[in-house]
Amino acid sequence: MYNPKSLKAEEFISHEEILSTLEYADKNKDNLELVDQIIAKAKERKGLSHREASVLLACDNEEKIKEIYALAEQIKKDFYGNRIVMFAPLYLSNYCVNGCVYCPYHLKNKHIARKKLTQEEIEKEVIALQDIGHKRLAIEAGEDPVNNPIEYILESIKTIYAIKHKNGAIRRVNVNIAATTVENYRKLKDAGIGTYILFQETYHKESYEQLHPTGPKHDYAYHTEAMDRAMEGGIDDVGLGVLFGLELYRYEFAGLLMHAEHLEAVHGVGPHTISVPRLKRADDIDPDQFDNGISDEIFEKICALIRISVPYTGMIISTRESQAVREKVIKLGVSQISGASRTSVGGYTEEERPHDSEQFDVSDQRTLDEVVRWLMELGYIPSFCTACYREGRTGDRFMSLCKAGQIQNCCHPNALMTLKEFLMDYASPETREIGEKLIAEEVYNVPKEKVREICKENLVNIENGKRDFRF
Ligand code: SAM
Repeated sequence: MYNPKSLKAEEFISHEEILSTLEYADKNKDNLELVDQIIAKAKERKGLSHREASVLLACDNEEKIKEIYALAEQIKKDFYGNRIVMFAPLYLSNYCVNGCVYCPYHLKNKHIARKKLTQEEIEKEVIALQDIGHKRLAIEAGEDPVNNPIEYILESIKTIYAIKHKNGAIRRVNVNIAATTVENYRKLKDAGIGTYILFQETYHKESYEQLHPTGPKHDYAYHTEAMDRAMEGGIDDVGLGVLFGLELYRYEFAGLLMHAEHLEAVHGVGPHTISVPRLKRADDIDPDQFDNGISDEIFEKICALIRISVPYTGMIISTRESQAVREKVIKLGVSQISGASRTSVGGYTEEERPHDSEQFDVSDQRTLDEVVRWLMELGYIPSFCTACYREGRTGDRFMSLCKAGQIQNCCHPNALMTLKEFLMDYASPETREIGEKLIAEEVYNVPKEKVREICKENLVNIENGKRDFRF
């Protein structure tokens, strides 16, 4: 039944295979010889299978967990250096016809304020985002064919890319909208989107159907096969994720890795990113009503294991998590974070953080300037880079760049140049001071002399008012 190459959801995410994986993991969790073999394989940096990774997830030997964390940290350093890519979500509309029981946008919620931004309102939101320094957005919308048809999404993307306020520009728009048709994915591709993101929520079919009792999202197969349709529509970069808290985490973890293996087997390229959202309190949603919440410790272990299992896949964390948790998982493998997020429709143009149309409570409420400064104080380089997809480095072309070890000659100078733009245009004096010092030191970590020299020249050009350099 289980077949990673199949295009049928229930065959590439086989329930029986997951159950047998969990049984195998339980049986072997104290088999330290096997655990050592799996860790040794992970050290080759070619990833782990869902079975191997599940054994490590089940293993609770403290020494081995320490070894796994150290390896995750090392792989993170080797593949992503000390760069952290920054983005912000932009909520376009919270009209939704689905019945997702964990989401406050569900159709039966009659007291949440329903809002859909007009193009003029989108312009205001984008200007507000540009004015704090963002260059990369993830647009979010509920599923509603009447209120939020694909034409609305496409028009909004066009509006976003067209706005240039002062030195601001949104250079990459990622899209997180409900599963759709190949034809619509092709339209999104033609509109110039970056990554298409869709969270699976849960890989457990029976739970999935109960958690999505009504609306088009109820269809497990249609949802689970969405990434295959997106790739058929020409989108190279897709982002996976599960909403932790809905089902047993070990089940979800195995399902997530099987999904990644499936994309690699069928399309020759795995997911571009994996997101790790955890269920949060929101309008009429109480996370305590769901039995499968995970502790911070388990969450960290999951992040470390994703890092060593799919070393080439970026990992994203949102402001659902607190500053303290973010600090830990950035070290263990997260490569992209949001900053200064507002999860309400129209939230960026309001003075105060509005709660009436929020999708979930935001734990990390700091400003972008504060987040950038905090990252730099921890020794990271906040990066506003969007070069890869603009240079056509998507899908397997991006992966070959990683595999050839060329990231340090590309991503590193790009991070420094985009950080420099941020410092010049948006940073507070304290942040700028720390940032300038960091750039001056980090420019010497560009390995190729020629690239380093061009990077230095461009940093001077940015100082003199020029913008948007990239390798
Ligand atoms: N409507 C789109 C869909 O169906 O995929 C995607 C947009 S939705 C605004 C983004 C994600 O927020 C969902 O996929 C879900 O995982 C997450 N989400 C929903 N309710 C949440 C909650 N209470 N806490 C945390 N995340 C939540």
